[in-house]
Amino acid sequence: MLIVQKFGGSSVADAQRIFNVANRIIDTKNEDNQVVVVLSAQGDTTDDLIDKAKEINPKPAKREMDMLLATGEQQSVALMAMALNALGYNAISLNAFQVQLTTTSDYSNAKIKDIDTERIKRELARDNIVLVAGFQGVNIFNDVTTLGRGGSDTTAVAIAAALNADACEIYTDVDGVYTADPRIVKDASKLEEISYDEMLELASLGSKVLHNRSVELAKKYHIPLVVRSSFNKVSGTVVKEDSKMEKMLVSGVAADKDITRISLLNIEDTPGKAFEVFSILGRNDISVDIILQSIGRDGTKDISFTVAKSDADAACEILEKYKDKIGVGTISLDDNVAKLSIVGAGMATHAGVASLMFEALYDARINISMISTSEIKISVLINKDDVELGMRAIHQKFNLAALNSL
Ligand code: ASP
Ligand code: MG
Repeated sequence: MLIVQKFGGSSVADAQRIFNVANRIIDTKNEDNQVVVVLSAQGDTTDDLIDKAKEINPKPAKREMDMLLATGEQQSVALMAMALNALGYNAISLNAFQVQLTTTSDYSNAKIKDIDTERIKRELARDNIVLVAGFQGVNIFNDVTTLGRGGSDTTAVAIAAALNADACEIYTDVDGVYTADPRIVKDASKLEEISYDEMLELASLGSKVLHNRSVELAKKYHIPLVVRSSFNKVSGTVVKEDSKMEKMLVSGVAADKDITRISLLNIEDTPGKAFEVFSILGRNDISVDIILQSIGRDGTKDISFTVAKSDADAACEILEKYKDKIGVGTISLDDNVAKLSIVGAGMATHAGVASLMFEALYDARINISMISTSEIKISVLINKDDVELGMRAIHQKFNLAALNSL
């Protein structure tokens, strides 16, 4: 079998952990498999490199940032090859250039276009364990790009798809995908399996287990993912096409604190205002999440929406510029908000899920300031300080701890 394995940064944080992972790779290899391994940068390397850059230039060029950040993954693969060699195994490390993993040109957030599998296949045929640097790519200018934070997962799935691998295993520092962050909700249960659609929502809503684009790719190419720990042999969570007869009403609660609410007050209450505001933001590549518009009064209305915290300043700057032209009274920004969401495929066919969620928040005396729903998720905007409390209350209301005993 051909197996793609990905190990996260904490799994390769130091020499001892590198050898721990090397031994797991060897176990897989010894079961008569061909093994391709994608690695992240060790421990906090990426964060440290970002700090280092900011020390020198608070607004570094994105191209240079990618050039810098890509070195983290390159260290990991070289070190892992050395570890495997030391244990008596053939291994070779490759960066994005060497595997010709090409991407779009947008630095810091590039999308994978193509992977030329020729080199990887050649190295596998030579009985090498192939180690590929995650997170990085090469664009049309032959420049180094990166795929966005957490992007090594996406590298792994893309390689599994390109090679038509038999399995894609994502090794991390938790035992799998949980019904809630186990650091916040002590009795959170590990899911045996979860559908691509649910995982995609969870990943986009703040669960940090998988890069959301990796789930998108896995869904597109029908690649089942196994998420499991590199520190133990617990079986993990399988992410795949929906197969269960009874869909889960709620499979997880996620929180995202990295958002900001922007409110546009006293906008002229005439047709086309929402269009103007959101097309300006769209043109500037700013994604908007929850949107709320008030009922007009005295000829004016308010529009509030949320954006990623990292986009908030840019969004305000642009809107300030167009404020008078659009006819906005004041623009205000609120950082003290967070989004709490529940996800479950069964919601699509069951009534009453929203009211149960709202009841849980009411019981905990948590105020909801915005609501948004889709077929399989409900999100609310609440005060940032209430996130942990709200998460526990919802988890309990839906009895998600009981999944442990199923
Ligand atoms: N090293 C990168 C990051 O920290 C990519 C990854 O870990 O997947 O975001
Ligand atoms: Mg990750």
